[in-house]
Amino acid sequence: MRQDQEDPYQRRSAQVYAAADRASSGSVASPRPVLYDAVLLDRDGTLIEDVPYNGDPEKVRPVPGARAALDRLRVAGLRLAVVTNQSGLARGYFSGEQMRAVHARVEELLGRFDAWLVCPHDDADGCDCRKPAPGLVYAAARELGTTPSRCVLVGDIGRDVGAAMAAGAAGVLVPTPVTRPEEVAAAGWVATDLPAAVAEILRRQQAVQPSTPPTGPVRTALVVRSDSAGDVLVTGPAIRAVAAGAERVVLLCGPRGRAAANLLPGVDEIIEHPLPWIDPTPGPVDREAMRSLTERLGAVDADQAVVFTSFHQSALPLALLLRMAGIDRIAAISDDYPGSLLDVRHRVPVGVPEPERALSLAAAAGHRLPDGDEPVLRLRRDAVPPRPADLGEPGYVVLHPGSAASSRACPPEVATRIVGALTDAGHRVLVTGGPDERAVTARVAAAGGTDLGGRTDLAGLAAIVADASAIVVGNTGPAHLAAAAGVPVVSLFAPTVPFGQWGPYRVPTVRLGDAAAPCRDTRAASCPIPGHPCLSGVDPDDVVDALRTLAVSGGGGR
Ligand SMILES: [Zn+2]
Repeated sequence: MRQDQEDPYQRRSAQVYAAADRASSGSVASPRPVLYDAVLLDRDGTLIEDVPYNGDPEKVRPVPGARAALDRLRVAGLRLAVVTNQSGLARGYFSGEQMRAVHARVEELLGRFDAWLVCPHDDADGCDCRKPAPGLVYAAARELGTTPSRCVLVGDIGRDVGAAMAAGAAGVLVPTPVTRPEEVAAAGWVATDLPAAVAEILRRQQAVQPSTPPTGPVRTALVVRSDSAGDVLVTGPAIRAVAAGAERVVLLCGPRGRAAANLLPGVDEIIEHPLPWIDPTPGPVDREAMRSLTERLGAVDADQAVVFTSFHQSALPLALLLRMAGIDRIAAISDDYPGSLLDVRHRVPVGVPEPERALSLAAAAGHRLPDGDEPVLRLRRDAVPPRPADLGEPGYVVLHPGSAASSRACPPEVATRIVGALTDAGHRVLVTGGPDERAVTARVAAAGGTDLGGRTDLAGLAAIVADASAIVVGNTGPAHLAAAAGVPVVSLFAPTVPFGQWGPYRVPTVRLGDAAAPCRDTRAASCPIPGHPCLSGVDPDDVVDALRTLAVSGGGGR
């Protein structure tokens, strides 16, 4: 609804206020390979000091540094929208006219916004726009001519971050004294104040753009991503960026990542070899194996190598082998001093999503995604087999209880109760797991789901996940398969590693589990805390509610 019209509040839809002299619907999403087109801002407590149910323009006080921070975003070409819950309208504490006077005062002090989106409802209205529901984010993206995944929302409470995530947008939490500690713990991205949030948004946006082109043409690029399926999948966008700037891409991966490597677009050839300084259960370093690996890497005849790692892994041992293999342009992230092992030594702050972290290394090596390629996870279509016909129509919910690291798996008794609750709510549930997880999937599925344990390899699982209306899964490979297919995720996320780095990327997500549990940031492979408290307390009804937030209804539809 436009600000210049009278407003009989529609019960279930957000109100859109675009000023009359601005286009009410923006241009089509830019195909430029940037992370963000738009920044969405919560109003009270984020842009201006929170005065409860304020209908008085005289009481509008911007937070410190707001005007300059917003102007930085405007200069950078980002569009701005305000997304705000104003239940004071539903409760009759102020009128629509008073609210518009407040908004006019906000624009007088902070400059113009490209759109205003207001939820006028109360919690009791059951609307789909009151944050943490994602409706305002969807409406803002539509109004600004982009998609939620190209938006980042800044807010001061968990409802803001929840709404962003449920729409597949990024969310930055800027806590105030009223922000609850558990909301801070659960947020994947936290900034100290609005100017700091803006600075980091602009830094991340800039970091995926190469500042210099590669020095000389790249015929063959060797890219490296060791470790598990999830690690390989989140590196996909960066590998596509390298592939866009190289004639041929050879990927070195480990045995545990091989199945995922087969699914990645842009890879021409795969070398599989374990790296004892990366593998979680490494064998001894074998001189002959290292010698033959070095020879094999030399035979690739690469003009450039880009070594991708996680924040706790070292690229340097491999860089030494690559030097010995004769490769003279090597790029990697390294906080440790690399001496002459690296030509591009890249550094990234903690907390950046793994796909962006890798994209920023590709950029430092001179590569970016081609125009039109979104910075999202993708799989090769020709590598994913047809879904088994006996699974019925699409629209089921996949529950994947296991994980290669038991610290990140859902306790079977919790998974069993989740299956029961989902079935009671009318969802059709498929329980998936690897060959070594059959006992667990059989037990969990007995509560009302279909047991697919051990029936698929990773590509087959990708096919099943792609036709789901949602997946319920821990921090493990299938969450990233879902992200690649655009399938919403209920993330039962053990906080052993940062959610902001490893959470499902650019896909509608609801996070459940205790983000402040004692296993937080331990990187433990098996839970160090008796009772696995981060996930054992997940309430199955919260999973049902999460699916509702993600607009996944029981009975098959999405
Ligand atoms: Zn609403």
